[in-house]
Amino acid sequence: VALDKFSEQKPRYVRVNTLKIDTENAIRELRQEYEVQKDDMVPDLLILPPGADLHKHPLVTNGSIFLQGKASSMAAVALGPKPGWEVIDACSAPGNKTLHLASLMKGKGKIIACELNEERVKRLKYNVKLAGATSILCVSSCPPPICIRKIPDKLKILLDEIMRISPMRSKPSICVLLYVEVKHGDFLKLDPNDPSYSKVRAILLDPSCSGSGTAFERLDHLLPSHSAGHSDHADVRRLQKLAGFQKKVLEHALSFPAVERIVYSTCSIHQIENEDVVSSVMHLASSHGFQLATSFPQWPRRGLPAFDGSEHLLRTDLTTDKEGFFIALFVRKGVQKPKDY
Ligand code: SAM
Repeated sequence: VALDKFSEQKPRYVRVNTLKIDTENAIRELRQEYEVQKDDMVPDLLILPPGADLHKHPLVTNGSIFLQGKASSMAAVALGPKPGWEVIDACSAPGNKTLHLASLMKGKGKIIACELNEERVKRLKYNVKLAGATSILCVSSCPPPICIRKIPDKLKILLDEIMRISPMRSKPSICVLLYVEVKHGDFLKLDPNDPSYSKVRAILLDPSCSGSGTAFERLDHLLPSHSAGHSDHADVRRLQKLAGFQKKVLEHALSFPAVERIVYSTCSIHQIENEDVVSSVMHLASSHGFQLATSFPQWPRRGLPAFDGSEHLLRTDLTTDKEGFFIALFVRKGVQKPKDY
C-alpha cells in the first residue's frame, strides 16, 4: 500500500518525439485532457499529473510521445549528440534512449543501436519504426551525411513519381539524413578498430543492471517468493556479477578511437554498479585521454564520495525523485562541450 501511494504521487513524464510532432502541438493536444508543464531541465519533456493514464492515448500509440521518466531522459541529453554525428547506443532495447538520441540529433546522422537479446531486438525495431526513425530520406540536393549509392527499386519508383509531379528538371539526388541501424549482437564483439566505427563520436552505455532504482524492482522485493528464495549472499553475488559486466562494457566503450563523449548510466541505487564501476575504469579512461565531466551542473544530487572526482557524477534519489538513477559522463580532453547542453 505504501508503495502504491508512493508511485501515485509520482508525476507522469512524457517525452515528445520531435521527429513526429512539435512540442507546442503535443502540449496543445494533451491540454485538452490534462494539466501539462514543461520540465525545466530536459527539453521536450512534459510533466503531467500523477495517475494520468496515457497508455492508450493516440499520441502514445502513434509514436508522437513516449512515456519516459525524467531520470532516464537525462542520459541522452547528458551525452549531447549533435545533428550529423555517428553514435552508438551500446545496449539499446527497447530503445527509449536510442529514440531520444534521434530526436536530439534532429533526425540527422547515424545511430548504431546494438542489442544482444533477440526478443528485445523485435521490440526495439518496432519502436524505431513507430517513432519514424528507421531512415529519414531527403530528396533534393542536400549535403548528405550518408549517401545511398545503390538505390533500391522501390525508391526508384518514388523518384520517378517525384520527377513526374514536381518541377525538378534534373534527376533528384537522394540521401539519408538519419539512419538508425539496429544491430542484433554483443556490443563487446564490435571491433573498435573496424573502419565502420571510425567516425563514431559518442557512445551511450545503459547496460543491464539490478534495476534497484525502479518501482518494479522495489515491488519485487516485497513478494513473499523473493524473501523466501533470495539470500543476501545471492543478492551480493548477483550485484558483483553485474558490476563485472558493467566494467567490461564500459572499458570496451572507452577503447573506440574517435569517441569524444561516453555516458554510462544505470537505474540502480547500488554503489557497486555505479561509483565503483566508474572508479575501476578511471585509470584506463585517463590513458585514453578521457576525464569525468559534470552533466547537469545545476542538479544537486551527485555521486557518493567514493573517490576523488565523484562530484561529477549524477544521482537521482528514490525518495526525492521517486526513481534511483545514475549517470557518468566521460569526455575526451581537449574536446569542446557541444553548445546547448
Ligand atoms: N537503453 C535502453 C532504453 O533506454 O530503452 C534500456 C537498456 S536495458 C537497461 C539493457 C539492455 O542491454 C537489455 O536490453 C539487454 O538485453 C542488453 N544487453 C545486455 N548485454 C548486452 C551486450 N553484451 N551487448 C548488447 N546489449 C546487451
